[in-house]
Amino acid sequence: MKTRKLLMIPGPTPVARSIQDQMGRETVAFGDPAFVKDFKELIEDLKVMFRCSGEVFVLAGTGTMGMETAIANVTKRGDNVLIVSHGFFGDRFIDLCTRKGLNVDVLSSEWGEIVPVDKIREKLKEKHYAAMTVTHVDTSTGVCAPVAEIGEMMKEFPETIYIVDGVCATAGEVEYIDDMGIDILFTGSQKAFGVAPGLTMLWVSNKAMERRKSLGTIPEFYIDFEKWLPIMHDPAKYFGTPAVNLVWALKEAVRLIKEEGLENRYARHKKYARIMQSALEALGFKILAKEGHRAVTLSNLVYPEGTDDAKFRGLLAEEGIMVAGGLGAYAGKMFRLGHMGNIDKHDLVSVIATIERAAYRAGMNVELGKGVAIVQKGLVE
Ligand code: PMP
Repeated sequence: MKTRKLLMIPGPTPVARSIQDQMGRETVAFGDPAFVKDFKELIEDLKVMFRCSGEVFVLAGTGTMGMETAIANVTKRGDNVLIVSHGFFGDRFIDLCTRKGLNVDVLSSEWGEIVPVDKIREKLKEKHYAAMTVTHVDTSTGVCAPVAEIGEMMKEFPETIYIVDGVCATAGEVEYIDDMGIDILFTGSQKAFGVAPGLTMLWVSNKAMERRKSLGTIPEFYIDFEKWLPIMHDPAKYFGTPAVNLVWALKEAVRLIKEEGLENRYARHKKYARIMQSALEALGFKILAKEGHRAVTLSNLVYPEGTDDAKFRGLLAEEGIMVAGGLGAYAGKMFRLGHMGNIDKHDLVSVIATIERAAYRAGMNVELGKGVAIVQKGLVE
């Protein structure tokens, strides 16, 4: 019999049945009154849940489009941008901004560590930056940036738009836009929301909307906030065809989040992450992110000396779990395990047990049941 495959890469994440059902619905006209009502409610829910007194945009496109949209709407050619990078996805902003003719300064950390907030403050004092980017969870390192603390510090620099990449964080890591002083937060549908890939959502402060206005006409067309704003206020209007079924799928994901409670969801992510991380450490894997800034949405696990990455991940797939490989200097030395979105206790027990079987078969020195016991204890405590 074929073994069921659990999708435990850091996005796309498992898509719950009720969300899949929304994607299977018969597509309607984007002007259909029932759809317009659904879209409107979705935007309102996203605003309220994440405490955003500004605007919310739900657009067809991936997380990378969210990055580009954020930058395009608050900067103009020749502006200075500060990029705080904790890995591969932080670095993605460098090329993106350079191509737009922005002057880029980068503050990078060693992989697994963070750039200290004081260091960011010192850099911001050097010159006027139109915007600053911080990746909440860099998927390449599993490092979680102290976005609230940075937001507090940003009060000293009101001229700089604070952009947070929440692609691997939003709906898993604690995030509230107004409370944290974030000007633009964006994410993708395929991560902690547990929807299929294809949507990017942005939360934009009034300050960032004012900045957009001050720029006049921008070179970008599809990703211009001013083109989409009338539609986000009244989805009966047209600018570009909305991804009807994905919008429904996201609405169902939001319904599930409301049913669970966002605070409970944050707590579940934290609890599950810490349980999994201690079980995986007990099996001999090393967590790349240093203690104190470990993400709750995924874990990046460095192999014990001598482990063959291709063999281990091959066996893991055979045993029924898909994980991702390491990026950059960690390719072949690490695997990345997502534990975000709509996953439950059954998934956790099954994932750790499967990792044990694969590690055992790969010749690692693991005691079968050791990780499972830690997860079981963690779940009943
Ligand atoms: N930022 C982060 C932190 C990500 O993890 C990813 C995707 N892994 C992206 C941006 C890019 O998103 P997408 O692949 O949806 O374009």
